[in-house]
Amino acid sequence: MHNPGNSTRFQAQDRFAEGAQYIAGRLTKGTSGRTHAVVDPATGQDVYTYELAGTEDVDAAVAAAREAFPGWAGATPGERSDAMHRFAGVLAERAEDLAQAESLQCGKPLKLSREFDVPGTVDNTAFFAGAARHLQGQSAGEYSGDHTSYVRREPIGVVGSIAPWNYPLQMAAWKVLPAIAAGNTIVLKPAELTPLTSLLFAQAATEAGIPDGVVNIVTGAGRDAGEHLVGHPDVAMTSFTGSTGVGKRVAEIATSTVKRLHLELGGKAPFVVFDDADLEAAVHGAVAGALINTGQDCTAATRAYVQRPLYDAFVQGVADLMEGIRVGDPFAPDTDLGPLISHAQRDRVAGFVDRARSYARVVAGGVIPQGDLKQGAYYRPTLVADAAQDSEIVQAEIFGPVLVVLPFDSDDEGIRLANDTPYGLAASAWTRDVFRANRATRDIKAGCVWVNDHIPILSEMPHGGYKASGFGKDMSAYSFEEYTQIKHVMFDNTAVARKDWHRTIFGDR
Ligand code: NAD
Repeated sequence: MHNPGNSTRFQAQDRFAEGAQYIAGRLTKGTSGRTHAVVDPATGQDVYTYELAGTEDVDAAVAAAREAFPGWAGATPGERSDAMHRFAGVLAERAEDLAQAESLQCGKPLKLSREFDVPGTVDNTAFFAGAARHLQGQSAGEYSGDHTSYVRREPIGVVGSIAPWNYPLQMAAWKVLPAIAAGNTIVLKPAELTPLTSLLFAQAATEAGIPDGVVNIVTGAGRDAGEHLVGHPDVAMTSFTGSTGVGKRVAEIATSTVKRLHLELGGKAPFVVFDDADLEAAVHGAVAGALINTGQDCTAATRAYVQRPLYDAFVQGVADLMEGIRVGDPFAPDTDLGPLISHAQRDRVAGFVDRARSYARVVAGGVIPQGDLKQGAYYRPTLVADAAQDSEIVQAEIFGPVLVVLPFDSDDEGIRLANDTPYGLAASAWTRDVFRANRATRDIKAGCVWVNDHIPILSEMPHGGYKASGFGKDMSAYSFEEYTQIKHVMFDNTAVARKDWHRTIFGDR
């Protein structure tokens, strides 16, 4: 399927022959004694076999980050900013390499890697290069009259981060950039399935002149390397992006070691279409919003609630558009939708749809493609209608190209149903009525609510969840609230030895 003559095709085994751990500016092999194969999900072929990190590798990475911390934290904001601007430049030069590697390990269509993952990461890096010079504490003042107080915003230390497989490059960027812009050093554990672009990202940091040990990568299994990183006594903060189930386990370990914790967890985003909406816009928005990254996106549109007058036309429009989506080889220029990340994930998604056949109607898709695509982890775009609000397919995070559609009558009902899952990461409202839009953005409980669109993100704006989708923010200046700590500094201005308040100790006035 892939064009073997394509000279840009990423040769992972050659590029990372030295190993998949990046510690103190050097690639090394993991010492867990176990290997893992990165599989191209489009073909089912192994493309890179590497030694997984064990606890000793995590210890070495944390030690490197700890050693690098005083120098990096002590650099001026301008020095950190300069290095990060160079970092953005190196990433921009490597854009095609990064896109090829991302598409290879994830099965993303090359157009998505080229137009979304890579430019988004370059932009994020440039944003945080600038933001590094704008870390602010509250202004100083004489709040007691006898003292001057001010606030210092300080880095926390070594950050231990854990990332998922769906956007490996962007997740590495979202974790690493605010942490290092604020003067922390970091150990990042990418998902075992997708280490390639995190390694390229860390190498680019070194090439840009970011000192060794500031950015380290340990590629190991969640249960040993991941948990060891979270529980490590020299790690001051845990930042985790992944499923809500694993997030709970991470929270238990981090809490028992009294760490700062940032959790970006699962989602089940509602897509609410009011009866005055532009139907064509809503139909196109729903298909694009549900299928981005083959639906493996924590903010993907997963539950469309459509007000009764538009319901039938919406279902028909989405089904027709889905039928025309070209599923195929991620490296082919005419591919719209690649495979899922793995055969296991594809089978998990198919399981949700197959179980739903007994209580709902599969309007489009629900099919594993055969023929040329048989070896890959492919699944046709799928629309499911007539499911009950409390059914599994409406409530659970599926993480695949599956949209569920339900009707509603009153505006109150639409918003109530939108809020009726444990998650609260993202949502959208489709209407031309400013009052309805305003009400939906106020009343939907989610970290992001779009109006008449679904999916776009910006480096300048925060991303993070409500409810079981976690807490804390990625991207934007808000992320510095996670990656810095606040110190109150207080100076006595009186120069008096026997201060008035001492009477509480030294007798009467
Ligand atoms: P996952 O929770 O299975 O794994 C995420 C990471 O945690 C991986 O690196 C994994 O190795 C590690 N891990 C697994 N068990 C661990 C343990 N016991 N201790 C420490 N680390 C452990 O998630 P996934 O399947 O890789 O990714 C999909 C999930 O990520 C979805 O739920 C999706 O919604 C979520 N996600 C959320 C956001 C967000 O911003 N909220 C963004 C992307 C993905």
